[in-house]
Amino acid sequence: MLPPIASRFVAGETAPAALEHARETNERGVGVILNLLGEHYDEREPADADAAAYCELVDDIAGTDLRARISVKPSQLGLDVGEEVFRENLARVVERADEHGVFVWMDMEDHTTTDATLDAFEHHARETGGGVGVCVQANLRRTREDLERLADLPGKVRLVKGAYDPPEAVAYREKPRVNEAYRDCLEYMFEAFDDGVAVGSHDPEMVALAERLHDEHGTPYEVQMLMGVREDAQFDLADEREVWQYAPYGSKWLSYFYRRVLERKENLAFALRAVASG
Ligand code: FAD
Repeated sequence: MLPPIASRFVAGETAPAALEHARETNERGVGVILNLLGEHYDEREPADADAAAYCELVDDIAGTDLRARISVKPSQLGLDVGEEVFRENLARVVERADEHGVFVWMDMEDHTTTDATLDAFEHHARETGGGVGVCVQANLRRTREDLERLADLPGKVRLVKGAYDPPEAVAYREKPRVNEAYRDCLEYMFEAFDDGVAVGSHDPEMVALAERLHDEHGTPYEVQMLMGVREDAQFDLADEREVWQYAPYGSKWLSYFYRRVLERKENLAFALRAVASG
């Protein structure tokens, strides 16, 4: 069972628990992007199993009136096993989602996977006429150019700063430089994207910049934040803006929970307080 300490960041161990979290979050005006935890499979079997689980999740979402989408990781669908396996599994999930009108996000993993992820996104963006979205990382030097390619495609793009640790040759490594790249990319997206912009950041500066750019260009946008991170801001913002919460779920919650706790001392303090109070 998911311990209460982890339930701040993880929506449950099962799909029904995750859907219940989605319902509660929707009631407060925020949409939910569900991610089944799992990544870097080096065998086909778990990748196929997660693709099947996503197909079932899509059926479950379609049977409700929830504002819920899904987000998949390429290595969860078999990219480490082979690009063909990833493409087959992604196609299964996207086709099922498209039948039901459920939107599919693709997370972006380390920089060696960017081409395979963007190519697969492009294929499905065209096939579904915009039923898919992809994440891009502002810390990669290539991203500003990738955005020019993505601007001509249907579908959505989520801009994040980047959670991986790519080498200097391909990435900006200093935080101020990453922030500058994020601002540049965001400005370009508000100028060039018709299908809207997804701001994947908890940073109040970036959220405020998005609002200014929206006023200037009229481009629609949504803010996306992680479950358990600045939730008050998520619910406040939802009074005026489209807000989506990325909510992971599933039995493989432990390493995700550690990542959240270790990335910020406030989260570590929260975890220690929770342990101390039993
Ligand atoms: P940071 O640069 O970490 O912090 C800037 C400011 O934001 C802080 O000074 C503070 O004011 C505020 N802030 C940040 N975190 C907190 C917190 N925990 N509590 C309170 N305030 C805080 N990365 C990928 O590489 N691939 C993905 O597919 C991907 N998907 C994502 C999806 C979503 C919806 C989100 C929100 C993030 C995703 N990320 C992904 C992670 C992303 O790349 C960043 O690592 C992460 O969001 C931290 O950067 P930041 O912009 O939120 O803020």
